Amino acid sequence: MTPEQFRAHGKQVIDWLADYMEQVESYPVQSRVEPGDIRAQLPSHPPAAGEPFEAIMEDVQQLIMPGVTHWQSPHFYAYFPANNSPPSILGELVSAGLGVQGMLWSTSPACTELETHMLDWLVEMLDLPAAFRSDRAGGGVIQDTASSASLCALIAARERATRGAIRRSGASQPLTAYVSTDAHLSIEKAMIIAGLGSENLRRVGDGVIDPSALAAAVSRDRSEGRTPFFVTSTLGATSRGLFDDLTAVGEVCREHQLWHHVDAAMAGTAAICPEFRGIHAGLATANSYCFNPHKWMFVNFDCDCFYVDDRQALVSALSILPEYLRNQASESGQVIDYRDWQIPLGRRFRALKLWFVIRTFGVEGIQNRVREHVAAADLLRSRIEESDEFELLQPSYLNLVCFRHHGGDEFNQQLLDRLNAAGRMFLTHTRVDDRLTLRMSIGQTNTTAAHVEQAWRWIVEMSQQEEMSQQE
Ligand SMILES: *Cc1c(COP(=O)(O)O)cnc(C)c1O
Repeated sequence: MTPEQFRAHGKQVIDWLADYMEQVESYPVQSRVEPGDIRAQLPSHPPAAGEPFEAIMEDVQQLIMPGVTHWQSPHFYAYFPANNSPPSILGELVSAGLGVQGMLWSTSPACTELETHMLDWLVEMLDLPAAFRSDRAGGGVIQDTASSASLCALIAARERATRGAIRRSGASQPLTAYVSTDAHLSIEKAMIIAGLGSENLRRVGDGVIDPSALAAAVSRDRSEGRTPFFVTSTLGATSRGLFDDLTAVGEVCREHQLWHHVDAAMAGTAAICPEFRGIHAGLATANSYCFNPHKWMFVNFDCDCFYVDDRQALVSALSILPEYLRNQASESGQVIDYRDWQIPLGRRFRALKLWFVIRTFGVEGIQNRVREHVAAADLLRSRIEESDEFELLQPSYLNLVCFRHHGGDEFNQQLLDRLNAAGRMFLTHTRVDDRLTLRMSIGQTNTTAAHVEQAWRWIVEMSQQEEMSQQE
C-alpha cells in the first residue's frame, strides 16, 4: 500500500468508523454467533497474492461484524465499561503510525516524557497523593492492564520484603498476601505467576477487608514462620462494587510493614470529580495504586495508570541490564527507562491517546461525562427502590447498580436471558449471598440518563412477560 493509497483507504476507514458510531445502537448489543461460526467463514489458507483493500473491508462488514459484541453501544451495561472516544482512537492511530517502541528514553524520548507528564497531570486531576509524582521518590507508568500493574506491585513488594534475596535465589520461606473475598482474580493470578502460591493468598473479610482479621492473620502467619508482605485493597470491586477502608487497612500495613497496593481499576476515574474524591480517603497509606483510563475515562483499551510511592523498589525488582541496551542517557541517571517499570521489554506509545483525550475533553469535559453516568446510575437506583418487584443491593456506589427481582434465581436468570436475547441491551450477573444478582455497569461514553431510563422500561417489560409465561 503506497502512502497515496493509505491516504485514500485511511479516509474510508475513518468514515466507516464514524458511520459505526452513528449506527451502533442499531446492532444487537451482544453478538449472537455460535462457537466456530466466524472461523467457518474464513478461508482455510492465507492468500498467496495480496488482495484489494475494499475486499478486506467488505469482509470486516460481512464476516467480522456479526461476531462483534458492541462494547461501544450506549446500551452496553455488562461486566464493566471499556469505553473509548474519537480523540482516543485518533491518538491510537498516531501511535500506530509512528510505530515507536518506547522501551528506553533513548529509543524515543517523547514517548517517555509525554507519559511521565500525563501521569503527573493525572495525579493533579484525581488529586492523588503527591508521593506519586515523578518529581518525588515515586512516579507513574502506563501498563497494559490493572492485572499487570498489580503483578508489578506484588513483585516490587516481594523484593522489598526479602531485601532482594528472592531475586537471586528464590523464596526460602512462604510469603503471604491478603485481600478481601471480592478482590480481583488478578491478585491470585499474580501470586501464581510470581511462584508464591495461591494458598498463600489469604481472604481476610467477606466483601471488604476486615482490618482486625487482617492483623490477626498477619500475626499468625508471622508466628508460624511465614513472611507476610502484601495487601491489596480494592476500590470498587468487580462483583458488586465494594470499597475497602484504606485508612484502616493502611494502618495495619504500616504496623506490620506490609506493602499496601490499591486496585481502583474502574472506580478510580470517579475521583476526577471533587464530589467523588472520598473514594480515595486514606490513599496516602498506599505504596502503589492503579486505575484504568481504558475502563471509564474514554481512552480505548489498553491503558492502565500505575503509581508507586518509591520507584526504586519497583525498578530494583524489575531491572536487568544487558550490554546491548546500555546508553549514555540511561547511565547519566537523568532519564526514566520505563522498561524497568513493567514485565515486558517493549512498550507502545500509549500516552498519546491519554493526551488527545485530556486535551479534547478538558478536565471539565471528563468530569461532566462521569457525573452524567453516576446520575444515570442514581436514577436507576431510585427506579429500583420505587419498584415492588425488584430490590436494590446495598451499598451501591457510583456507576455500578446491582439488583434482583423478587422471583428468585431461576426467574432472574430467565429475565437476564430474555433481556440479552432481545439484543437491545446487554447486562451480566454476579452472585451475592449465593443469590443470582443482576448488574448494570454504566459507563459507555454516550450512555445518558435517557438510555438508562429506556433500559429500565425494557427490564420491567421483560419481567412482566416472564411472569406471564410462568403463569401459563
Ligand atoms: C477490571 C478490573 C481489573 C482487571 O482489569 P484489567 O485491566 O483487565 O487487568 C482488576 N481489578 C478491578 C477492581 C477491576 O474492576
